[in-house]
Amino acid sequence: MPVGQIGHLSPRDVLCCLQEESLVDEHLELKRQIVEAGVHMIRTGLVYGTGGNISARLPGMNYFYITPSGMAYESLKPEDILGVDFDGRVVEGARRPSIEHMMHANILRARPDVGAVVHTHSMYATAVASARVPIPPFLETLIATTGGHEIKVAEFAPAGSRELAEIAVRTLGGDSAVLLANHGVIGVGRDLDEAMGVCEVVEKAAMVFLLSRLAGGPVPIPQETVARQAEFFKARYGQGRGR
Ligand code: 13P
Ligand code: ZN
Repeated sequence: MPVGQIGHLSPRDVLCCLQEESLVDEHLELKRQIVEAGVHMIRTGLVYGTGGNISARLPGMNYFYITPSGMAYESLKPEDILGVDFDGRVVEGARRPSIEHMMHANILRARPDVGAVVHTHSMYATAVASARVPIPPFLETLIATTGGHEIKVAEFAPAGSRELAEIAVRTLGGDSAVLLANHGVIGVGRDLDEAMGVCEVVEKAAMVFLLSRLAGGPVPIPQETVARQAEFFKARYGQGRGR
């Protein structure tokens, strides 16, 4: 056997195998995180039953992972998570993917900065989305999380339709969240924690927004102050990850 060779494998082959193995591990870990995020979403009341869906990808992946359609979150296993490409084709897994897979595909294709997309049906945000009222940056937590943009409402389109997939990505633009008329919320982030955090803050803001309207409505924060506050949070809040 030539020096440096392991069995019939060259050092290059061995390196390749190891790289492939670590890729398999990373992908399995991501699928596990999606399952965990689903359990979190149902336990914290961001969705009911089998509503909502979650997708995520790692840098360099030319497809993404997404939850299956209509399965109970607490029953999901990593192997139930599907790999789907940006044209909506299943490339990994045996389940049927979420009916909103094209909505996720369009967002992930349009936004290289986004690593995860979370779609919820949380109660207060859905109430505001049903009234088709955008949420202004009226609350400091909201400004800190979203960078101070208004949460727009995407026009109504049926669940699972190509139309919804297109309207959602268009209305989201470069923002971190969008309301879906008479339906729910989409939050995006660099990873699952960040996207889930956006959905949680939008839900809280929607609740405060509705309550505040009972007391006369939130007094707007001047745009300039919102921008300054957003910059401040980006530069100074937390432990340095920066938004
Ligand atoms: P899926 O279970 O197919 O993901 O659908 C849930 C949903 O929220 C549709 O908008
Ligand atoms: Zn939905």
